[in-house]
Amino acid sequence: MSRKQTDYCRDCDKACCKYFTVPLDKPEDDTDVDAMVWYLLHEGVSIFIDDEGDWFVNITARCRELRPDGLCGVYRTRPQICRDHTDEVCEKNDDGYDFKEHFFTVRQLKAYARKHLVKPPKKTAQRSTKSAGKAGGKGKTA
Ligand code: SF4
Ligand code: SF4
Repeated sequence: MSRKQTDYCRDCDKACCKYFTVPLDKPEDDTDVDAMVWYLLHEGVSIFIDDEGDWFVNITARCRELRPDGLCGVYRTRPQICRDHTDEVCEKNDDGYDFKEHFFTVRQLKAYARKHLVKPPKKTAQRSTKSAGKAGGKGKTA
């Protein structure tokens, strides 16, 4: 929320308080794409490329301080990122929210990767021997 809660934000559904984004490195190989696939397997997660070509992961998550009445519970001491969020780059009027691409599914990301990012792995003449098991388990890397 940017301005006083009683004017500009009053009639808004508070979209800006219900998600956050984290910058990502542009994927450069199959391993990078695979890590992004893992992100997209989670509910409420999407990945987008902004109008400057920067990559972000978008996580839908309601701020704990967004009160049921739509007001900010810590308005006077809210973080700087909330203070910097102005109506010029606001979800309500959409300005400043142009995406080059927005991936909601693994299929969408893989299709883009095939076309723009990485070449598919070369087929080998012979099957290699299967390893005993996975090298690592599921775990957050970011
Ligand atoms: S999206 Fe814009 S209008 Fe809505 S609460 Fe956030 S800053 Fe206010
Ligand atoms: S601290 Fe307040 S303004 Fe910032 S995201 Fe949470 S509810 Fe919104």
